[in-house]
Amino acid sequence: MRILVFNAGSSSLKFGVYDIPRGGGLVQMQQCFKGSFDRFGAGGCDYRAGLDEGTVTRAPYTDLASATQAVPDMLARAGITGIEAVGHRIAHGGAEFTAATALSAEVLEKIHALTPLAPLHNPANLKAVEIARDVWPDLPQWAVFDTSFHLTNPARAVTYAVPQHWRDAGLRRFGFHGTSHKYVAQRAAEALGRELRDLRLISLHLGNGASACAVALGESIDSSMGMTPLEGLVMGTRSGDVDPGLFGYLSRQMGLGITEIEDALYRDSGLKGLTGSSDMRDVEDRAAAGDADAQLAINIYAYRARKYIGAYAAAMGGLDALIFTGGIGENSPSMRRRICDGLEFMGLKLDHDRNMAVELGAHAAPQIQAYGTRVNVLVTETAEQLMIAREVAQAIRTPQGEALRIPIAVSARHVHLSQCAVDALFGPGYELTPDKPLRQKGHWAARERVVLHGPKGEIANVAILGPLRDRTQVEISRTDGFALGIDAPVRQSGALDGTPHIRLIGPAGQYDTNGLIIAARHIHMNSADAQQIGLSDGDTVNVTLTTSGRGLTFGGVLIRVTDNAFTEMHIDTDEANAAGISGAVEGELSGEAVLRST
Ligand code: ADP
Repeated sequence: MRILVFNAGSSSLKFGVYDIPRGGGLVQMQQCFKGSFDRFGAGGCDYRAGLDEGTVTRAPYTDLASATQAVPDMLARAGITGIEAVGHRIAHGGAEFTAATALSAEVLEKIHALTPLAPLHNPANLKAVEIARDVWPDLPQWAVFDTSFHLTNPARAVTYAVPQHWRDAGLRRFGFHGTSHKYVAQRAAEALGRELRDLRLISLHLGNGASACAVALGESIDSSMGMTPLEGLVMGTRSGDVDPGLFGYLSRQMGLGITEIEDALYRDSGLKGLTGSSDMRDVEDRAAAGDADAQLAINIYAYRARKYIGAYAAAMGGLDALIFTGGIGENSPSMRRRICDGLEFMGLKLDHDRNMAVELGAHAAPQIQAYGTRVNVLVTETAEQLMIAREVAQAIRTPQGEALRIPIAVSARHVHLSQCAVDALFGPGYELTPDKPLRQKGHWAARERVVLHGPKGEIANVAILGPLRDRTQVEISRTDGFALGIDAPVRQSGALDGTPHIRLIGPAGQYDTNGLIIAARHIHMNSADAQQIGLSDGDTVNVTLTTSGRGLTFGGVLIRVTDNAFTEMHIDTDEANAAGISGAVEGELSGEAVLRST
């Protein structure tokens, strides 16, 4: 599958082409072309192309629209054909768009309606959509929203303490740069060799726009931008946090209108407002030459970021890693050092040499914390376009971009027996009687039953599932573990080393064995389904069960792919009770597949 991605900003256009090899999963996605235009002016613009950074050439395009229109030609000259879909970055998707969404007329209208909330960004994004639809009328166009990743933020993080009728009118925090924060969080987990769902991370995206995001156990729980991309950190031309009281003061005392105030906060504030330049390189050069305004601007910039680190570590109750990305985060060792200075008290300290020696490229994510400190600090390039392409590919592979629905099977306690166990329990050479076929081909429940015997009690009438296995495995729920008086670990089927012992009792005798587990929740998936939605054996996903009144999202659901599996999710009786399941239920596998480390 080949996907073209547009990332149109207010003053730049980046684009990239991504391929998934036939039969490959999303993690195998490769970029095959990239280009960018910026510094538009009467004389044209700068153009970079090629997979390496490429040399900068001048191009004759004076604005975003003419540059976007030139993209098909540029792709043709580079020999890029066979594009199957176009993905667009859309800054503001409001509360509705939680995942990649096909750009129908109705969706476009909704995005238009959100423009007042992102006045610098949504119009530029929509311009690219309009041109792409003209140029490739037959290709499906998809939107991936900066806001989607943050829609997991709890109400306490997104609710402004303002009158009810304002909130009823839609005033709330959203957060932006979601695609970037999500990508770098996944990249950091990979680089640390840890599961994202086990980590508490703070990601600092410091580019022309800047935001901080707290990612706890795989989900964004707070971020520094608010209802609009104006709140939070100091940015190139945006103020970030200000006292809302200044609106009244500026209006009454200085006679400024709302539009003037807003324009100044968006376009003439931040580094520009403090120093006259919105470019951190200029500001740093001037500070080094002794300019007091530039020095103060740098101090304010770092101080604001440091405050957010403290706030988010407190919000998450701890911190495992801090991630720097964006033009400033990636390229300014002195800003990284200033931001981290003074955070030793929370186990966060940079190593000077590692910080100075950061080399990015080829998706590197070097660590720059001082040796022996508790909090890891990583620097990595963001890859918003790659992430957009992944999300579009995943949405396309899931029919109609809807969540894939998976039947849920509730496994009551049961045992898988070895021949040895059958001999001991039912008599030498005994053959079990297959009674009911199970949905996994070749599997059955036997007519015979056994008793589980533990130090605290017995459970009778326990099902035996066939066919026989090399090792006996006993699967119970946590509640059963209390009844038996044995603490069983949550394990994947077959991972039996070090598991506790249990006594089985049958009509002909008893059998003592280890192999007592609580089965880790998992989805049996056949290869065709796995390929269609871009999942591989060993991936983990989230599955949401909507039941009457007691719905639940299960995280960390393990994907187990086999050629002819019947695709269904297995949970135990405790999990089923927690979700209030009665009767047949399906789970929704959200588009948020957590990709396995590569
Ligand atoms: P955008 O948000 O538009 O994608 P970028 O992520 O490219 O922006 O970040 C642009 C910012 O990065 C600018 O302020 C620029 O000065 C800064 N930057 C780029 N390289 C360096 C550097 N070597 N040192 C300090 N700042 C840098």
